[in-house]
Amino acid sequence: MDRRQFTLGTASLAASLAVRPALAASPAYRGPNVILVRFGGGVRRAETIDEAATWAPYLRHVLAPRGTFIPDLRIDRLEGVNTSHAEGTLNLLTGRYLAYRELATISDQLEPTEPTLFEYLRRSFDIPSHQVLLVNGEDRPQEEFFTFGAGDHFGIDYRSEMLSLHRYKLYRTAMQLAEGRLPEDQLQQVQEERDALLTKDPRGATPDPSPDVTAFWERWRQDYGDSGLKNPRGDRLLTELSVRAMAELQPRFLMVNYQDPDYVHWGNPSHYTRAIAIIDEGLQRLVSAADADPFYRDNTIFVITPDCGRDANPLAEVPFQHHFNSRSAHETWAVIFGPGIGRGTVDRPVDQSAIAPTIAAAMGFSAHRAEGRAVEEIFL
Ligand SMILES: [Zn+2]
Repeated sequence: MDRRQFTLGTASLAASLAVRPALAASPAYRGPNVILVRFGGGVRRAETIDEAATWAPYLRHVLAPRGTFIPDLRIDRLEGVNTSHAEGTLNLLTGRYLAYRELATISDQLEPTEPTLFEYLRRSFDIPSHQVLLVNGEDRPQEEFFTFGAGDHFGIDYRSEMLSLHRYKLYRTAMQLAEGRLPEDQLQQVQEERDALLTKDPRGATPDPSPDVTAFWERWRQDYGDSGLKNPRGDRLLTELSVRAMAELQPRFLMVNYQDPDYVHWGNPSHYTRAIAIIDEGLQRLVSAADADPFYRDNTIFVITPDCGRDANPLAEVPFQHHFNSRSAHETWAVIFGPGIGRGTVDRPVDQSAIAPTIAAAMGFSAHRAEGRAVEEIFL
């Protein structure tokens, strides 16, 4: 896309947004905000919720007592269920198992085939797309497709928006090309960078971000520049994006997809435990930000839960994998606290497919395609 095409594209997008008729009138949303934290990259109970051994002391000793603790959340042992990151995340978002398909062009990219919480929420209530947000890691473009699903369900009109470094780079390269201030050889490099970014997403960069999210990136660029060297990296970046988004966009539903414990695939257990501790620090920042902000204080439910567990075989050449269908790879947990949520421990096994309908119940809509049932006993 050259500069002129980009400008035209932006103008026509603005025009199409301006004239688009309102979707069927939905009521304004008056329920609590929900922040869903995927304590992700696959973590075992042993390093997260074990009282003595935890690497996440804030989660275990401060947040769990603040609400309902579900120590025995399980991923069902169904034929074909893979205990992994994208799969587990879509189980959380749809309340179903195997509710996805691989995008045809590139393997390892799943898109939901059933409605996600984002779509249920935005179909039930009049909430703009920038207030239903998914914050994603940089090197998981395969998770850029969870914002809306394929097929004949709700789809693109009810999508969430996405904040990730991938999305920022799409914004930055578009701006650099539109501004045309760089020398010709550097512009060529930017064009190549942008082309490479676009090939990661077989759906293209559509839908374009809303004006609110574009303005978010504009401010981010002012603070962090074009080099990519100033902003935090890894899961600390997700925390930064999330805290800024809370202040600037006021999402009603925010999902934060932490992921760095997964670096243990490369074999170094300290990467894993350190990454758990960094997510725990991120939780402190998110909860402090919510507690300090009148928009979130006393009006926000946190749901913290992993995508999947990990294997517990100490004899494996590389321990802590999660693709061998072992028991502990199916074992996760959840911590849920906020207004309307009781304090205590759920003493029974709860299925991972219960998380989506539980969030739906908290927000006042029905995830009617979910297979799981809401965990009713957590509500006051
Ligand atoms: Zn993994």
